[in-house]
Amino acid sequence: MGFLRLFSRHKPKIKGKSTKSDSFSGWVKCTSCEEMVHTHELKDNYNCCPKCNYHCRISATERVAMLSDEGTFQELFTEIHGTDPLEFVDSQPYIDRMKKAKEKSNRSEAVIAGTCLLEKQKVALAVLDFSFMGGSMGSVVGERLTLLIEHAISHSLPLIIVSSSGGARMQESIFSLMQMAKTAAALAKMHNAKLPYISILTNPTTGGVTASFASLGDIIIAEPDALIGFAGPRVVEQTIREKLPESAQKSEFLLEKGMIDCITERRELKAKTAFFVQFLTGNARAKQDLPGSMSEKDSPFLNSSSKLDDLIAASKKEREKNRIHVLSEVE
Ligand SMILES: [Zn+2]
Repeated sequence: MGFLRLFSRHKPKIKGKSTKSDSFSGWVKCTSCEEMVHTHELKDNYNCCPKCNYHCRISATERVAMLSDEGTFQELFTEIHGTDPLEFVDSQPYIDRMKKAKEKSNRSEAVIAGTCLLEKQKVALAVLDFSFMGGSMGSVVGERLTLLIEHAISHSLPLIIVSSSGGARMQESIFSLMQMAKTAAALAKMHNAKLPYISILTNPTTGGVTASFASLGDIIIAEPDALIGFAGPRVVEQTIREKLPESAQKSEFLLEKGMIDCITERRELKAKTAFFVQFLTGNARAKQDLPGSMSEKDSPFLNSSSKLDDLIAASKKEREKNRIHVLSEVE
């Protein structure tokens, strides 16, 4: 009888005592180095671990605030809403999944698109929101991005897109995959209009997003140690039946292989992006910041598209000058 009671007993007799000291103290464990870090310290450090510099994920709203000049961001195209044309159901109906994502994130879709000032220069800015269904690109994300690209073209604005995404939204099937072609085609128009597009890749950027607009930047910047790839490492390993190197699909590996242009720490991201924008649009600030303090007259960087030969010649001359300098130091 006693034995039966052991299993039929509903609740433990001893009650757990909850006191104020049990509540959240502000200390969290870094997922990378496992050191204890205080949330204030994290916040002051752009949400990067002060011990190991691991770049923790930040929300799309925080990202917009971080990149734009204070109070200048104006969101556009919020009137574009999604539908469920396939009436798709997996473990739950797509429509319910969307509803939950909206409630959880307090956003209408997985992208924020708009215009703002970036160090006093007007730009078009879009940020994917990983907390909304893994930042996946459905038809609304694709449409808002395309509209923003078209807006940038018609207003002659440079474009910046910050990606963090699991890829195409599978619940929308072909409607989602079509967004890859659509965004890529819009960016081709942007290229023809000779307007710069800077793509910023954050952890993680994968799937159809990597395979479309995220890889089409005139300059592609990545945050340190970000996972960037098409299929995830496990899928690749299963397909090719080979073990991938430890660092494969990380920013540092991609930089080494020439897939991205630079890796920039989050604290420097705004200044670096602003520099590239100003450099590519050739305004006064970029002229001052040119390396080697060349005067405006002999700078080949401005109006550069037709002066590629001059640019190469100048860089060769510069390199030779440095070499002579180094040699004379050695002697
Ligand atoms: Zn850490």
